[in-house]
Amino acid sequence: MKKIKRRSAIKSIGAISLGMATSISIRGEASNLPRYKEDDRLITDILVVGGGTAGVVAAIQAGRAGCKTILVENGSQLGGTITTGGVVFPGLFHAWGRRIIGGPGWELTREAIDLEHGFPNFSQPPGRHWHHQIRVNGPLYAMLAEEKCLEAGVQIRYYETPTNVEFKDNNWIVDIQGKGVGKQIVCNQIIDCTGNAAVTSLAGYNVLKETVTQPGSILFTLGGYDYESLDLELIPNEFRNMLRQSWRILRGSSATNDNQPFTPYGFHVVNGADSTTSESHTLANIQGRTLVLETLRKLRSLPGCEKIKIMDMRPETAVRETYRIDGVYKVSYDDYVNGNIFEDSMSYSFYPIDLWREGQPILQEYLEKDIIATVPLRALIPKGSNNFIVAGRCISSDRMANSALRVQASCMGMGQTAGAAAVLAFNKGTTPLDVPLDELRRLIENHGGILPQGN
Ligand SMILES: Cc1cc2nc3c(=O)[nH]c(=O)nc-3n(C[C@H](O)[C@H](O)[C@H](O)COP(=O)(O)OP(=O)(O)OC[C@H]3O[C@@H](n4cnc5c(N)ncnc54)[C@H](O)[C@@H]3O)c2cc1C
Repeated sequence: MKKIKRRSAIKSIGAISLGMATSISIRGEASNLPRYKEDDRLITDILVVGGGTAGVVAAIQAGRAGCKTILVENGSQLGGTITTGGVVFPGLFHAWGRRIIGGPGWELTREAIDLEHGFPNFSQPPGRHWHHQIRVNGPLYAMLAEEKCLEAGVQIRYYETPTNVEFKDNNWIVDIQGKGVGKQIVCNQIIDCTGNAAVTSLAGYNVLKETVTQPGSILFTLGGYDYESLDLELIPNEFRNMLRQSWRILRGSSATNDNQPFTPYGFHVVNGADSTTSESHTLANIQGRTLVLETLRKLRSLPGCEKIKIMDMRPETAVRETYRIDGVYKVSYDDYVNGNIFEDSMSYSFYPIDLWREGQPILQEYLEKDIIATVPLRALIPKGSNNFIVAGRCISSDRMANSALRVQASCMGMGQTAGAAAVLAFNKGTTPLDVPLDELRRLIENHGGILPQGN
């Protein structure tokens, strides 16, 4: 028998599998399971990629409207920026005293609130926009989202991501890679809800990005101190707000209700945070965690903060801005601040223009009274695309409009439109751009959606 040197054996089979083989031989067990399994094709009507804010809603809508739907998510839970990013304060479902976003997104948010605490008083215009944001419990939201997807018949596939997409004979062939599996999914319609337009670029459609994007943030809560007994004269300015906010959250006084407007988590701004690639998101996560660790060390040197600890921290840096699609229509700043309604407007969006800038104050502009922006179907469809639609923050829009369109309730409204348009396109053997608008409106309304009035 040919003698194999130990070093080359390690090299050829890999240190991990060598470790496994050793323990298996000790236990006398045999294993011939391949570490990478490539097997059958999955056939579905609709594939949603990205199970975040918009993707969950798109998948529920598509499943409920009767289409066979697969949802591929590269993380381990649903909810995206809401849950994994920790931005647990969706906004804005209400504008000028009335609710403007309905459908599965509102249903999910309402159920999450019903299991926790009450709503703010939406009948009054908010003093500041965040007074109308709704605080949800992240893990609870993720569980409810999963439950609703499964109830809608959606097949959820975690830890997977597309590596190649090809449009052939009026169907998409999508290569998916995950933990220990490589699959091919054949579907008729794709809904890209990755937040980064990741599938749009894989499909070869044009995407756009600013040279400098808004910073991201890592969210955390501090504990182990009594804010009220701190000598604030001795605490540097930069930490005071962080300590106050964390303390309010820990005492449960940050919940939204009539008397106590919403207060966000303590957070660190991570300049240049970009979730477009695993490399750039790795960097953003490391930068975010480094900042939190530095803060913890600095705080512990302050009087009254010696026992400070991290009570909660999100597993990744949440990202505000990456790629947007180059859509059939681009929503402009003027469209947004004038509340333009288009023939194909299918949902509302309400938020101040809210552009975060490195080292500068947030550029914020409130909408004038009774103005509510709308989202046209065409802004969800990449130019020149077939059987393809997008929902979420990567909607086709100029940068200023996007700074407001990107918020969660708006993304949920878009998710419902995308799910409904994909279903109609599948049923009619067409592409989302060509679905009859009156039928799309009916489908959205039948599933609780709120359509912009005036079209
Ligand atoms: C720090 C911060 C504060 C914010 N504050 C507010 C606020 O106060 N109120 C508000 O309403 N909004 C706020 N926003 C904006 C809002 O949270 C996001 O814009 C919105 O949630 C984006 O939704 P989305 O569905 O486009 O993306 P996401 O919710 O991020 O979902 C994208 C999903 O796709 C998955 N994914 C990505 N790439 C792939 C891939 N290749 N394969 C498979 N899966 C993939 C991700 O894992 C994720 O689950 C804030 C955002 C940030 C970052």
